[in-house]
Amino acid sequence: MDDDASHALTRHDATGGQPVSEAAAGAILTIDLGAIRENYRRLKARLNGVRCAGVLKADGYGLGAAHVASALAKEGCDIFFVALTGEGIALREAVGPGPDIFVLNGLPPGSEPEAAAAGLCPVINSARQLKAWRETARRLGRSLPAAIQVDSGMARLGMAPAEVEAVAGEAGAFDGIDIRFVMSHLARADEPQQAANETQRREFDRLRKMLPAAPASLANSSGIFLGPAYHYDLARPGAALYGVNPTPREPNPMVPVIGLRAKVAQTRQVGAGAGIGYGHTRHADGPLDLATISLGYGDGWHRRAASAAWFGGVRLPFVGRVSMDSIILDISALPAGRLGEGDLVELIGPSQSVDDAAGHAGTIGYEILTSLGARFHRRYIGS
Ligand SMILES: *Cc1c(COP(=O)(O)O)cnc(C)c1O
Repeated sequence: MDDDASHALTRHDATGGQPVSEAAAGAILTIDLGAIRENYRRLKARLNGVRCAGVLKADGYGLGAAHVASALAKEGCDIFFVALTGEGIALREAVGPGPDIFVLNGLPPGSEPEAAAAGLCPVINSARQLKAWRETARRLGRSLPAAIQVDSGMARLGMAPAEVEAVAGEAGAFDGIDIRFVMSHLARADEPQQAANETQRREFDRLRKMLPAAPASLANSSGIFLGPAYHYDLARPGAALYGVNPTPREPNPMVPVIGLRAKVAQTRQVGAGAGIGYGHTRHADGPLDLATISLGYGDGWHRRAASAAWFGGVRLPFVGRVSMDSIILDISALPAGRLGEGDLVELIGPSQSVDDAAGHAGTIGYEILTSLGARFHRRYIGS
């Protein structure tokens, strides 16, 4: 990987592009690439020989697309999905010419030459995109790869049924296009009881049969757990690779991937009546031992995300409001003097999962992961 690519794909602190050292950082994000590989193997085992891609959009769900790609490549994964053309170009520089890189959101008008030069495979979501890619192929005098996405019932991306019919009836619509996959995306795959899944699957079958024969792809992480009828020829998991539970009503079948620990910046004791934090939303009702940690909403820790940190299995509740760069903890449950400046407390780890933190904030693990900030020291393990 050359320097430019690593700059494009690695998050840095806000002070000039160098990764922040462990000593200087306010918090440490540990990313276990071995756990990502284990999750890939677990998904593969469920897929019974069906191919399995890796979804690396939003910088590998915030964990570093280049690192994740190289870990997955070691498991034989050679198909990656990103959302945007720019992500695809950066990922191509990082992974080299081998793997297929699909761009889920399609190509914005005018970006086709850049995408072709980087060897990207657009996910074609409209008749206009199909025509633009066909013309790019004609100009270059060679065929170009693509996936065709149909909207089977999510109304987000992909050709609507009428558009599928129209292009299917148009002579030469796919000239010069090497259709690698026909694909669609499920709106409610994490709700296995929902009839919408089966409705979408049938609609997917109906639509893809109008198109030139090609391998098919429907399942995201949760879709894999809907069973073999949803697997087709390629699965496209993202979240499950990163340890988010793809079966939210059941125990998590994946292993955790990240750990987040923040440093104690300062400790203090306050007496009864002390006002704590912005807005004095809390007053001490008796003597309290407090620790202020160097992590806040400026690091992507949502003001309503989980409201406690942990130390050696002991819960340390947040007191008062989450600030931009700090949070005040009630550490009275620990022996006096047990925590001091520089000690690390757990925000995500064995006591509190990504999904736990998300649940408190009324959001999903995906948002917690992709929000994780640029100021952390990032430590990759298990590679
Ligand atoms: C994000 C995305 C995926 C991966 O979804 P997960 O739920 O993270 O597994 C797969 N396919 C498409 C079209 C997506 O947008």
